[in-house]
Amino acid sequence: MSDFLKDNNYLDFLLGESNVKFQFIFNNTNDLIQIFNDKMEIEYINENAHLRTLGYVNEDGVNILSDDKIHPKETKEAQQFLRDLIQKGEAEREGRLKHREGHWIWFNIRGKKILELRDSIQFLIISSEISKRKYAEQKLKESEEKYSFITENANDLIDIINIKLEIEYVNEEVHKKVLGYSKKDLIGNLLLNFVHPDDFLTAMKVLKGGFKKGETEGTIRFQHKNGTWIWLEIKGKAFLDNDGKQKALLISRDETKRKKAEDDLKATMEELKRSNEDLENFAYVASHDLQEPLRMVASFTQLLAKRYKDELDSEAHEYIDFAVDGAKRMQQLINDLLTYSQVRTHAKPFTQLDLNEILEKVLKDLKYSIEESNALFMYDSLPVIMGDKSQISQVFQNLISNGLKFNDKEYPLINISAESKKSHWLFSIRDNGIGIDSKYYDSIFKIFKRLHSRKDYPGTGIGLSICKRIIKRHGGEIWIESKLGKGSVFYFSIPKIKIK
Ligand code: ADP
Repeated sequence: MSDFLKDNNYLDFLLGESNVKFQFIFNNTNDLIQIFNDKMEIEYINENAHLRTLGYVNEDGVNILSDDKIHPKETKEAQQFLRDLIQKGEAEREGRLKHREGHWIWFNIRGKKILELRDSIQFLIISSEISKRKYAEQKLKESEEKYSFITENANDLIDIINIKLEIEYVNEEVHKKVLGYSKKDLIGNLLLNFVHPDDFLTAMKVLKGGFKKGETEGTIRFQHKNGTWIWLEIKGKAFLDNDGKQKALLISRDETKRKKAEDDLKATMEELKRSNEDLENFAYVASHDLQEPLRMVASFTQLLAKRYKDELDSEAHEYIDFAVDGAKRMQQLINDLLTYSQVRTHAKPFTQLDLNEILEKVLKDLKYSIEESNALFMYDSLPVIMGDKSQISQVFQNLISNGLKFNDKEYPLINISAESKKSHWLFSIRDNGIGIDSKYYDSIFKIFKRLHSRKDYPGTGIGLSICKRIIKRHGGEIWIESKLGKGSVFYFSIPKIKIK
């Protein structure tokens, strides 16, 4: 290296002795400053900056134009830089220069033909370090690559729209898969052009509202390229792009299958409801209309027996008794079925019911069977509830008469109590009767389910299913706790409704 470089007189000469400010800048800037002569030999460098940035001292050789300082991948750019500098008088490039310790540092390198001194040309090259910017750019590139990988490989549709609701970005592959469109079918188009006419207003609300509130969501039908409609569940978020323009990012999921399953389920439920109502009506009409002919069968058979009393033999009388008994049982069955179907079809509005009065009336109605069975009753004072009077009476009547019927004790005991819970009343009707096995706890509430033969215990097997229907209509539950041979407790709950 020439001593000339170290010669401060040269700098003085270059800048003019009086220009102390420039000297100060030259010595203190972090930019590398190098001045070359027309033979491309170094005439000046600012040593401090070189030392700080590249770790070089003079002796190491500082020529940033020399091959060993240039990154192997940038030799072409470096040559072009030199050509531009010589031919055009100006050049610029971004590139890496080698640090003394071997690693590479990014610089913005600018060169200028500056002056002709003593008839010779000089070149000023200033290199500013841009590692931080490069690093940030690299990070940005990586994150953009990640972002585009995510969007292109997501299962959801990703769109960016502007405030005019024009589509600016789509993840093409997903759009092709879900809606059949490629990028060029969509970009620049109005999103609303693809929306089902019936969902147009909803879509406007969802999208415009999203820009207003910052976030939005909704379920809207979009047309597939093949003309069919696809349900999309859209979530959107508004944002400002780099130019400060309002945009919205939309992420949409194909919900067609779920929506269809939901619609199918709804249709099935409606169908079920309809067929249930049909069945209820059928049960009502059938049992109602069957009563009259049955009454005729029973009464005319009885008339027959009476009128031809002396002419018929004992066998004929036995047959007639069977016929009458069958007709009566059928009447009972039909009556019970009618009651069952009427729980909903003939439901009355709820009124205030004093259960003490209701119980009194039920016990009065059951007076005959109570006296016959020597039953003893114990009961608490009962609350006032809201309910259907005849239905609630029916529940008490069925449960108490079962307690008497399914009892083989000399003195059947029936205990009736009510407990106040937070949101409901809990009633219990306990007996000391025959009890049931726990495996029948659920099935006895099913229609026609009986655990005993008619000979042992008469009945139709409808009573408990009526109770269950009534309690359900009142918003409560009914269940049993029992042990075979040890008696049973029937529990039912009735919600506490505010009594107006
Ligand atoms: P039914 O009384 O006409 O037989 P229910 O529907 O009232 O019909 O009762 C169904 C079945 O549940 C009865 O047949 C009986 O086996 C059983 N059950 C009902 N109540 C009691 C009870 N208190 N103790 C024991 N078993 C009972």
